[in-house]
Amino acid sequence: MKALVVASGKGGTGKTTLSAAFAHFASAERSVVVADCDVEAANLPIALGAVDVTCEAFGGASEAVIDVAACSACGACVDVCRFGAVEPKVTGQDVGYCIDPWSCEGCGACALVCPTGAVTMRPKQAGEACSGVTRVGPIVYGDLRPGEDLSGKLVTEVRERAKGLAEQHDGTLMIIDGPPGIGCPVIAAITNTDHLVAVTEPTASGVHDLDRLVQLARKLGVSVSAVLNKADLSASGAERIRRYCADAGVELIGEVPFDPALAALLGGMAEGSGMPAPGDDADSPGLSAVRDVWGHVRAVVAP
Ligand code: SF4
Ligand code: SF4
Repeated sequence: MKALVVASGKGGTGKTTLSAAFAHFASAERSVVVADCDVEAANLPIALGAVDVTCEAFGGASEAVIDVAACSACGACVDVCRFGAVEPKVTGQDVGYCIDPWSCEGCGACALVCPTGAVTMRPKQAGEACSGVTRVGPIVYGDLRPGEDLSGKLVTEVRERAKGLAEQHDGTLMIIDGPPGIGCPVIAAITNTDHLVAVTEPTASGVHDLDRLVQLARKLGVSVSAVLNKADLSASGAERIRRYCADAGVELIGEVPFDPALAALLGGMAEGSGMPAPGDDADSPGLSAVRDVWGHVRAVVAP
């Protein structure tokens, strides 16, 4: 099975739109599994109209909990906590302590020093790993809770589950909607894939964001090509991206114009209708450009 990642150095460039379109085109000729690894804002299930969704808890680190009835209020846990997570708790005449779950890093030091055994460590739920069905094939995605920092681990979990589904469904292509940026979750999404499509836009920071993503992909040994989205919004910005790609040896496989009709078509996909065929009345410049881009991507990952 081949794995294609669609990612961008920052959010809002249109990578989910392209991922959804690629999944649509690819599913017309092969068995596709989709993985939304943007676990802090998974939009692909919405874009593809996922149904029959089931979710399972995704475990994170541990957190401390104090049994107030067993607490002698000695204060040892307050002294040992380097994160200021233990707070006084006054109930009537009783003075005890409780843990602020937002501050607790789960180091376990308080449980070790507590003389009465009032502190226990319990697993903390960091989010959910979900799977469902779309008209292009099965989908897996993650939903990380706000404030949790295990996005890379959840991305790995999503990819593992997607791989399992691909094996069940004889999937030949996994399409991964990657997280924005170049941090841990992006590394987890790109590692051991066959190709990265880096989506960029003609903004002031576009070249910088693209370059960071290209450098990362090259460090990970993953081939990369670029798509310039909303290409007609800035002539000078678009020219900077073209120059960068030529200088850096990155193939610019397509330029997609800003096209509100493209978003409307994707809305139609979510509601169950397909995309128009080439030449159809509902075809649009944006869709036509995305279709051309898919032709290039297909030659790399789904020949
Ligand atoms: S587990 Fe560590 S961080 Fe959490 S309250 Fe105890 S000492 Fe503080
Ligand atoms: S160390 Fe144990 S007994 Fe002492 S204040 Fe903390 S929870 Fe209570």
